[in-house]
Amino acid sequence: MTITSLNPADPADLVLAVEAPGAQAVRAAVGRARTAQAGWHAAGAAARSAALTRIAEAVEAHADELTALIVREVGKPLAEARGEVARTAAIWRYYAQAPFEPSGAVHEPAAGPGLLLTRRRPYGVAGLITPWNFPLAIPTWKAAPALAVGNTAVLKPAPEATACALRLAELAAAAGLPEGVLTVLPGGAEEGEALVDAADVVSFTGSTGVGRAVVHAATGRGVPVQAELGGLNAALVLPDADIEQAAANLAAAIAGYAGQKCTATSRVIAVGEAYEPLRAALVKALGLVDDTACGPVISAAARDRLTGAVASARAEGATVLTGGAVPERAGWYVEPTLLADVPAEHPLRREEFFGPIAVLLPAADLDEAIALANDTPHSLATSVHSRSLDTALAAADRLDAGMIRVNAPSSGVDFHLPFGGAKGASHGDREQGRAALDFYTASRTVTLLPAGGA
Ligand code: NAD
Repeated sequence: MTITSLNPADPADLVLAVEAPGAQAVRAAVGRARTAQAGWHAAGAAARSAALTRIAEAVEAHADELTALIVREVGKPLAEARGEVARTAAIWRYYAQAPFEPSGAVHEPAAGPGLLLTRRRPYGVAGLITPWNFPLAIPTWKAAPALAVGNTAVLKPAPEATACALRLAELAAAAGLPEGVLTVLPGGAEEGEALVDAADVVSFTGSTGVGRAVVHAATGRGVPVQAELGGLNAALVLPDADIEQAAANLAAAIAGYAGQKCTATSRVIAVGEAYEPLRAALVKALGLVDDTACGPVISAAARDRLTGAVASARAEGATVLTGGAVPERAGWYVEPTLLADVPAEHPLRREEFFGPIAVLLPAADLDEAIALANDTPHSLATSVHSRSLDTALAAADRLDAGMIRVNAPSSGVDFHLPFGGAKGASHGDREQGRAALDFYTASRTVTLLPAGGA
């Protein structure tokens, strides 16, 4: 099978074509990574820290080139691509400090002399499977903590983002990362399955259906697995909100990078009297979102799925408040779109569509808004827009979501905090922050007693 990666803004532009290496090549790469792991771990904290720092420096030194590659390969708007590259360097730097973190704790023996210790140790080879929408940041926020604590890693990127991942691996190698410590293998489902079948710890980010299969396979083998999956994220807007600010935040969360973020907002819930002013302000704000913020969607199939969903919602009585069309131009573009009166069981209210589309829903009061927001298994990020502390506290107490963001867009992630969804949006331990260091290590309990003691 050939992996091809096309420029979504100009599909005639072939970014990369490469043969998928097959399952046997994945097993061989995991074998080499396993051989390299002992030396990488034994090299010590200072050597691992220095290597990760050099990768951060290499990313910074190639920032313009990497930014252009992200724009070209996955259609990310320039400013966001630049931000992703800066964040990628920052994540390598952040985890470059992790090798020096405490790796356990000291406990008192229940009786008598001696020491009881806990100590965290790497698993071996981390198998990393990533989506295309953050083609450098997600590979980095998996690989950097895995390597920092002494694992080696084999990464299988999404086919649509293969060139970005291969370039990251090249820069890491040129920065002096030893052979076999970080391997990027292009591929699709076959290579992904082979990786899950061979790795000692598995981290997956991607769509819900694939993630469920990965969790099932890894759990069946008895290896630790985390999976971060799709979201169907809500925004609650209360009548006391700064409506203009809320509309601007929502427009960014709905249509920024064409809504192709797991944390994008796709359901806007307006409480009581907020509905009318919000509808007007949001229609205006979405109309102002241009190519510098939105950009194309990843493929023709994605575009057709989005326009098909708008057409079927319309046929079932929905109103298109703004957008809904495909602009006349090359590239896979969809206009930022807001719909009202979408029936409760329509897929746009039940599934992630991953495009610049949201539905506007009325709620009589905060209780109904929270119930609507929670009415999904895909509970990744929910935003709340209000000036009231009581509303913010109620939201923090009662929203089922991995991320609760008050007066901020649902999209937006801090790499030094744990990240992940609630309910069906996530499986296993959190990613990012210090949480990632725990995920990539297993705890050992060590008992030290004096020789010749009673
Ligand atoms: P995808 O599920 O199609 O692919 C993800 C990865 O899994 C790719 O590398 C793919 O090649 C691989 N894969 C496919 N079949 C496989 C199999 N049978 N076994 C193992 N691996 C397999 O997702 P995508 O289209 O690349 O990315 C978009 C999705 O990712 C959206 O649903 C989005 O919400 C989600 N996402 C989630 C987060 C998060 O942190 N929650 C972040 C970004 C993206």
